[in-house]
Amino acid sequence: MTRFPLRHPFDDGRPREECGVFGIFGTQDAAAHTALGLHALQHRGQESAGIVAFDGAQFHVHRDLGLVSDVFASDTVMERLKGHAAIGHNRYATTGATVLRNVQPIFVETGMGGLALAHNGNLTNAHSVRRELVERGAIFQSTSDTEIIVHLVALSGMDDMAGRLIDALGQVVGAYSLVALTDTAIIGVRDTLGVRPLVLGKLDGAHVLASETCALDIMGARFVRDIEPGEVVVIDRDGPRSFKPFPARRSRFCIFEYIYFARPDSRVEGRNAYEVRKRMGAELARESGVPADVVVPVPDSGVPAALGYAGEAGLPFALGIVRNHYVGRTFIEPAQNIRHLGVKLKHNANRAELEGKRVVLLDDSIMRGTTSTKIVAMVRDAGAAEVHMRIASPPNTHSCFYGVDTPSREELLASHMDLDEMAGFIGVDSLAYLTVDGLYRAAGKPEGRRAGQPQYCDACLTGEYPVPLVDRDGGFEARQLSLLDDPN
Ligand code: AMP
Repeated sequence: MTRFPLRHPFDDGRPREECGVFGIFGTQDAAAHTALGLHALQHRGQESAGIVAFDGAQFHVHRDLGLVSDVFASDTVMERLKGHAAIGHNRYATTGATVLRNVQPIFVETGMGGLALAHNGNLTNAHSVRRELVERGAIFQSTSDTEIIVHLVALSGMDDMAGRLIDALGQVVGAYSLVALTDTAIIGVRDTLGVRPLVLGKLDGAHVLASETCALDIMGARFVRDIEPGEVVVIDRDGPRSFKPFPARRSRFCIFEYIYFARPDSRVEGRNAYEVRKRMGAELARESGVPADVVVPVPDSGVPAALGYAGEAGLPFALGIVRNHYVGRTFIEPAQNIRHLGVKLKHNANRAELEGKRVVLLDDSIMRGTTSTKIVAMVRDAGAAEVHMRIASPPNTHSCFYGVDTPSREELLASHMDLDEMAGFIGVDSLAYLTVDGLYRAAGKPEGRRAGQPQYCDACLTGEYPVPLVDRDGGFEARQLSLLDDPN
């Protein structure tokens, strides 16, 4: 099975972002609020979006490939999505019918009424559970692991939907945040380690669930709190009720949310993502400063860390690389005969800020090294005297099996090259990464990464996977049930 089979020729093959989930209960126009929330969460997945609304009698569903602003552009669509409760989802996807079946939220009619599910994350025993279900006669329509939860709900003997969902989740292993819609409630769940984010908010009389606080801000909703690891929150007309059906465990929130995923203006597990990124840059300057004239970020993700680095090092910050924000997958492919020119669709060097200068180039991470290699060449072409790459996180040496479609381990540059080899590959005068201790300090855990201390999930940086990789250890191929896989 190939990964990224429909790669655009100008798509640099970078990992895809994960998903965004949203839910609201207790307002007219729940779907319109959900569309707004999804729009704020667009950075978490850009290629498909969906909303399921409930109006007291009927569920209404609309899902399609495309950006939120396109999928929910039509008044007719929005008018059809009536109701006081709704959930929504956005994610990445490829194209075509196979993939449309995977667009979420998933919606099914069960013996207990309708159920819609929106899921961000990954089940690490998906293959095993799916095989058992198929052996018992289950028929799957999609390749997404969310459908496994639906089957487990349908088979559960519990007598209400929340109980069935809890029963189902007790049978799966994974890292996920989930938002569900039933004919009486919306339900939010976080996995027992709280790897993926989920917050609770309030908007007048309505209650909101969202992957990130930026989805609350967009509609003027108030942040109430993070949903706790292993917590199930049922929100119905009596308001939110919290359940802790799973054994309490120490939180292992995904550190990559701070490094890259979360929107900088989001408050993530009590900390503003932008502030944490700035501190990562400052730590990096303290650990691996280098004589230079200017600090230049790889936009947009490198900007906060570059500001932190420049501030700490006492160096000027400059936008030496400018990003075109209008590059989409729908970009018409330039003709074959101009492709070899190495068309710079996404980034361009700003010569005025680079020529003759010793440049510290800052990015949040390196995966395959594609972005860095291109950008370094651009900076050199623009006349930089020296290029020193500084990465505001430790080397990405391992794949994520918890909902982020990262490259396979072999493709990750840092998994098979040492620092000097990487510097040579990327073409820089020097290369340095933030240390794990520096990262923990920046992310508010100064005691660092020590057994017995509160920790993050940092599997992509350390190879220590806190959620058991059941399928891999049971002999299944070690990868996520990706919607890029052909279900046949
Ligand atoms: P690469 O070009 O493969 O080395 O990927 C590194 C670049 O991708 C950096 O500029 C990061 O900001 C960005 N990046 C890191 N993680 C992700 C992700 N999961 N999805 C999309 N981009 C990412």
